[in-house]
Amino acid sequence: MKVKVVTRILEANDRIAEENRRLFDEAGLFVLNLMGAPGAGKTSLLEKTILGLKESIKIGVIEGDIAGTDDAERISSTGVPVVQINTGGACHLDANMISEVLPDLPLKDLNMLIVENVGNLVCPAEFRVGEDIKAMVLSVTEGHDKPLKYPLMFKESSVMILNKTDLLPYTNMDVAKVRRDALSLNPSLKIFEVSCTTGEGIKGWTGWLKGKCRQ
Ligand code: MG
Ligand code: ZN
Repeated sequence: MKVKVVTRILEANDRIAEENRRLFDEAGLFVLNLMGAPGAGKTSLLEKTILGLKESIKIGVIEGDIAGTDDAERISSTGVPVVQINTGGACHLDANMISEVLPDLPLKDLNMLIVENVGNLVCPAEFRVGEDIKAMVLSVTEGHDKPLKYPLMFKESSVMILNKTDLLPYTNMDVAKVRRDALSLNPSLKIFEVSCTTGEGIKGWTGWLKGKCRQ
């Protein structure tokens, strides 16, 4: 019985995700669903991504957090349109939450919409919101055991951004193991190593992302 309930929730979510998708297609929007644990550096990566691309691509952002508007304020200071969703306790964004805030964004004026999901390595990967691709941020301080402990996130993501590489000398992170385990779960996973603090590797990521966008 429990399984049936979960299935129905996901089916209902997928229907709304398809409706979101239709609106995104009408607006010619590329949509990225950005996931990762709290503190992995999702918002920092978003800031660097916007700064690197905003001259050539019109970006809009939806920020998902359980509470607070800190992330939306950070993004707003980069000059791009942003909407904050507070889930009030829910640990992921779903298609309906996205659907409700779409009227607050100038979709037709944008080329790319980035959705920063709630910090969580588990259920954000289960809920489609109508995105083109899912991306995940993993920071080197989280440890190299994460791919095998949270396989769905790595399977569902098209790209993994390994962040905080400047901190590698201070951790026991085995980057080769992370790459090996992540690729064993998802052989087509694209991997970037970056530091949002030093800027190292950011251009490789933003260049790749720009190539994905229909301009
Ligand atoms: Mg954030
Ligand atoms: Zn959740």
